[in-house]
Amino acid sequence: MDLKTARQIVDALKQSDRILITSHVDPDGDSVGSQLALYDYVTSLGKIAAIFGQGTIPSKYLFLNGIDKIVTDSSNAVFDADTAVVLEATSIERIGKVKRMLTQGMRIVNIDHHIGNSNYGDLNLVDESASSVGELLYKILKLDGFRMHRETAEKLYTAILTDTGRFHFASTTPDALRIAAELVEAGARPRVITDKIYFSMSAEQTRVIGEMMCNAELVHQGRMCVMSLTEEMVEARGLSFADFEGAVEYSMYVKSVEVGMLFKSVGDNCTKVSIRSRSSFDVAALARRFGGGGHVNAAGATIMMPFEAAKKALVESAGEVFSAND
Ligand code: 5GP
Ligand code: MN
Repeated sequence: MDLKTARQIVDALKQSDRILITSHVDPDGDSVGSQLALYDYVTSLGKIAAIFGQGTIPSKYLFLNGIDKIVTDSSNAVFDADTAVVLEATSIERIGKVKRMLTQGMRIVNIDHHIGNSNYGDLNLVDESASSVGELLYKILKLDGFRMHRETAEKLYTAILTDTGRFHFASTTPDALRIAAELVEAGARPRVITDKIYFSMSAEQTRVIGEMMCNAELVHQGRMCVMSLTEEMVEARGLSFADFEGAVEYSMYVKSVEVGMLFKSVGDNCTKVSIRSRSSFDVAALARRFGGGGHVNAAGATIMMPFEAAKKALVESAGEVFSAND
């Protein structure tokens, strides 16, 4: 992490009075945990802060202390801030409707760990080697001697746990593990948090996942698994897509699979894809071809194409990469 920029961020936050915190649309564990932890830090400095986002918070994160601080429908929200901290967003477009709230003269602080961040901030702390934004925030808070309470520790632990896929992905670095250990020392409860996030599904959720796995297709000689979730499948059980954040992980359960995809039909002409890989297959590069982004082994895109057409295009595109790599 670039210490000079981290110190400048601490100074900028201390000079601010009103701080707007935001992250990418359809929040995941890193964005939720990181936003809440940053809120704890800046309010401990006596600042007025507010968190604005877009998209439903997956129910598995609702146990986190202060979760109700996140405004999820920011369409008509007003908050006169002097500084906006944008977490986890490769480009400013990723924050969706909240972009409207970033007015002229506001200082923008950009903290991210994705490849290809466009450095849209006045201060940019972009570290691709970090497991998560939670890890970067831990380092920033520690730099300023913040006294970590259990609540904040659990938010940062959630960020690291989920973005490393439960300490599974290549992003599970010594730093990520050391920080996780320090968070446990500060009171974070690994058993409780993992249970809340990964082992607290409703029976309906497990049925939909069962259906999704039954219908999974293995393509490219079993090297790729394609799974689908449609609105009908989800709504038939009284659920929403937010209940399946992270479900792409099931596409990687088969040994031969190098690349897994989960397609969600989010509208007639809009398809969201989540992509994972375990090899050197760069799924962020694949996602970028379709206007998305992410990391080498975890990426996604929102494609303005009908469901079947988007699937076909992605499967073909991945096939080209397999052929080129062979
Ligand atoms: P997920 O598949 O869990 O939604 O996202 C995996 C990774 O891909 C995350 O790092 C996320 O930020 C990135 N990602 C997911 N969807 C999009 C998208 O529509 N655009 C961009 N630029 N990145 C995305
Ligand atoms: Mn992240």
